[in-house]
Amino acid sequence: MRDVPELVRVSIGTAAILGLEERWLSAEPSTAYLMTYTEGRCTANCAFCPQARDSTASRDLLSRVLWPPYKTEEVLKGLRKTGSKRLRRVCLQVINYPGFLDDVMELLGAIREATTHPISLDTPPIGVKALRKLQELGVERVCIPLDAATPKLFEDVKGGAVGGPYTWRGQMKTLERAIKVFGEGRVTTHLIIGLGETEREAVRLIQKLHDKGVTTALFAFTPIPGTRLERHPPPPLGVYRRIQVARHLIARGLTRFEEMAFNERSEIIDFGVKPERLKELLSNGEAFQTSGCPGCNRPYYNERPRGPLYNYPRPLRRDEIDKEVGAILRMIWRDGAS
Ligand code: SF4
Repeated sequence: MRDVPELVRVSIGTAAILGLEERWLSAEPSTAYLMTYTEGRCTANCAFCPQARDSTASRDLLSRVLWPPYKTEEVLKGLRKTGSKRLRRVCLQVINYPGFLDDVMELLGAIREATTHPISLDTPPIGVKALRKLQELGVERVCIPLDAATPKLFEDVKGGAVGGPYTWRGQMKTLERAIKVFGEGRVTTHLIIGLGETEREAVRLIQKLHDKGVTTALFAFTPIPGTRLERHPPPPLGVYRRIQVARHLIARGLTRFEEMAFNERSEIIDFGVKPERLKELLSNGEAFQTSGCPGCNRPYYNERPRGPLYNYPRPLRRDEIDKEVGAILRMIWRDGAS
């Protein structure tokens, strides 16, 4: 039997919660975010990712968050000591490199012994046997990231165009396999807004995935120096808000892509819900909070703490809800969006 990997990366906020760093947090992560450690870079080459093969960004980064490596033993000790009040889940992000699956299996066994929190695993595409094995090892939910909203964009940022190993078909197939193993509602994908997709394309995909039983976690594209897309801009906040609202309503079965209306720029101008009803449905502010697995809040993954916040990592205050809902209602009542 192999040994548990000596090192594991930990998001800096998680490291503070686990007692590995002293740091004041303006928002605590409600999930412990861990990432597999490898000496080199990821063998894939996603254009937005600091971990990518050709990236020159710090290997301690994923999006704009620092993930320093720590001794796995120390991390496990921190997980054992941290009560369930502060954390609701553990998420293990997996970098692609030869032998990653063996490392993941060993890490999962050790994490499972250290905590009873549900575990999410964000993995490159794997076969059905491996998915079953991961489930046996205690993985509650699995995430296979599509990241891009269309096959063409996928090819451009993750696939052959950047010398990456992934294909849209392969990713979709793994999502379908994962549904067979884990069941509907226990499979997640990540979707990055701002890579060049239209709102219509993003929402069409969210609906398609929802119909298959896949949860979509939304991210806002974040340019990181040293990555291929370092000069690409983040998405306008209004675009992100409309897609967030559409995702929220679709995920709860309150509307469908086919019931929405889009303008000639493919922007959402009608969510398929009357404005008064929409105001009511958005009144708890949940639509604007981080989406994905239950208990995942990814604080400041896409934005600086001073904002503007693409994903609120906590429940919104009343004044924030009024501001966000007011802005959405103004957008859809105007003729056209942006
Ligand atoms: S949604 Fe959150 S917990 Fe789930 S896989 Fe993504 S980062 Fe991890």
